[in-house]
This record gives sequence, structure tokens and C-alpha cells, in this order.
Amino acid sequence: MTFDTGPSVRPLVIVIFFPYINGHVCYLTAHVIPSSLSHLRLQWYHAPNPFTSLFPLEKRLPLSAQGFPAKGFESMCLAMRTLWELLLLVFISMFSKTIGGKPSSWFVPVETGYCTSWRVAVEAYNERAWRTVPVQCLRYVENYMLGGQYDQDINMVVEQIYNYMRDVAPAADGKDAWILDIDDTCLSNLLYYQGKRFGVDPFDPAAFSNWVQSRCCPAIPAVHGLFWKLINSGFKVFLLSGRDEETMGESTADNLHNLGFLGYERLILRSPAYRGLGAVPFKSEARKKLVAEGYKIWGNVGDQWSDLLGDCAGDRTFKLPNPMYYVP
Ligand SMILES: [Mg+2]
Repeated sequence: MTFDTGPSVRPLVIVIFFPYINGHVCYLTAHVIPSSLSHLRLQWYHAPNPFTSLFPLEKRLPLSAQGFPAKGFESMCLAMRTLWELLLLVFISMFSKTIGGKPSSWFVPVETGYCTSWRVAVEAYNERAWRTVPVQCLRYVENYMLGGQYDQDINMVVEQIYNYMRDVAPAADGKDAWILDIDDTCLSNLLYYQGKRFGVDPFDPAAFSNWVQSRCCPAIPAVHGLFWKLINSGFKVFLLSGRDEETMGESTADNLHNLGFLGYERLILRSPAYRGLGAVPFKSEARKKLVAEGYKIWGNVGDQWSDLLGDCAGDRTFKLPNPMYYVP
């Protein structure tokens, strides 16, 4: 049996000693993740002296590596091993039930089935108001974000947008609009969230502000392509974000400019009057103003449901994947 370890995975290591016979000891190290019986690895050793020479690693010998030093030692070790394996499984099983769905941060197994269901629930907006990624889904979200599936899912959404755009022809009045969100829509915060364990750690406003000030957010390539497709098709593109205008306006504009997000109609950020307001009412207000100005919102793209709900959301909304954080 094996267990999967990663940068944040810390299996419990249990060391169990066995009888001291004729100057030798048999002992077991068990590497276990108690929340999952499938994550168990046992290593058996014997050493010539339990108190003085156990821990220098070169003295630790796998049970099967050499002959046993004393008559009866092998059968004794094997019998004890069977007994202790049974006891250990019982212990792990009990502990697993105790911690249930809230495993300690010490133990982070890869729970693909649960985490896939959790991510689907998040994307379908069945799971709401969650604060952090479940710790047991750290490796799952990491694999999703870095392993290619996230990029593929974004490309799929953008493909759907292109399909929709084929049926939409901008009029000559210059009032056909699209709205794009910024964070994890135009600009990627993936590098930042890698340092926050892909959302397992709680949101850190100061650290995120520093990240924005660095102007280092990369573009999301598929959305960058969409941006230019919209501009070149004659749509007015409005970039609408809950980023604070006073403290992040300049860095956001610089970041966008440096990445070639040029020619958009307006960058709308959260002015001081809207501080503390939820994203839904803030963005609803902003869109209502655009509609009042005569714009028709054909499409609205964001990674959060709060980008897409509320008033004047647009004729079509497109949700990009984001399993790392939730913005109310
Ligand atoms: Mg966003």
C-alpha cells in the first residue's frame, strides 16, 4: 500500500518496538494518513541494539534484508508484526471515523472522488459562501490548476463564447458591449495562490494587495485572445472588477497595459463609495449605469457567480472555472 505525499502532506509516523532478544530488537515504522486506510505504508526493521544503534540509519535493516540474528527471532517478529498490523488497522479505522470529513491539516490525502464532487458543486453554485478549499482537496486543486484541466476548461468556455458571437452582430451605433471581469478572468492570480496552497489558506488582504501592486499578474491566454476578438469585432469592452480603485487602480491599469489589454472602453473598479458592498450589488450598479448610457450588454464573463448575478447581467453569461476562492 502506498500514500501520496506532497509539499504539504505530512503522514503520521508511528514507531513500534518489539521484544529485545539476544541483543536484537525488531521494530516497525508505520507511515499513515489516518483519514484514509488506503494511505498506509509499513516498514519493518531489526537492529542489533535498541538503545544505542537504532537510529543511525545505516544500522536500520529491512526485515527481509538479511538473516535473523537469533533463533526464534524471525517467528517472533513475524507473529508480532501480524498482531500489530491488525491493531494498527483498527486504530486507524477508529481515528478515521473520529475525524470524519474534517481531517487535521497534518493529514492530507488525495480524495479525488470527494474533491471532484466538491469542485462541481462549486462551479454549479450549489456550494456557496465557502471560505477556503477543503484541506483534503489541496492536492486535487493543485493538480487541477497546474495539470492542464483548468486551461482546458477555460478554453472550452471561450469556445462557447465564440460560438455565441457568431450569432451576434454589433450595430453601427457603438453601443454593443461585453463585460469582462479581471481577476482570474483577464489576469491570472494562480502564481499568488500557489503560495496560498491553492486556496486552502484563508484570504490574506495585505498579501493580495502586494501581489496586485507588483503588476505581475500574467494574462489568461484564452481570455486575452477573446478580448482582442471582441475589440476587433466592434464590441465595446468594459473591464469590471471589485478591485479597490484608490489603492489598486494604477497598478491594475499598468498590469493590463503591459500585457496588451489595450483599447477597452472603460476600466471600472470599486470606488470608495462602494467599499464594503458585495460584488453582486456593486457590479449590478455598474452595469445598470452602462445600460442607462445606452449600452446593450451582449455578454458577461467572470470566474465568480457574483460577476454574473444581479441586474443587467447581460444576454449571456459565461462562468470561468475557479476552485481556489469564493467572492460573495
Ligand atoms: Mg474574478
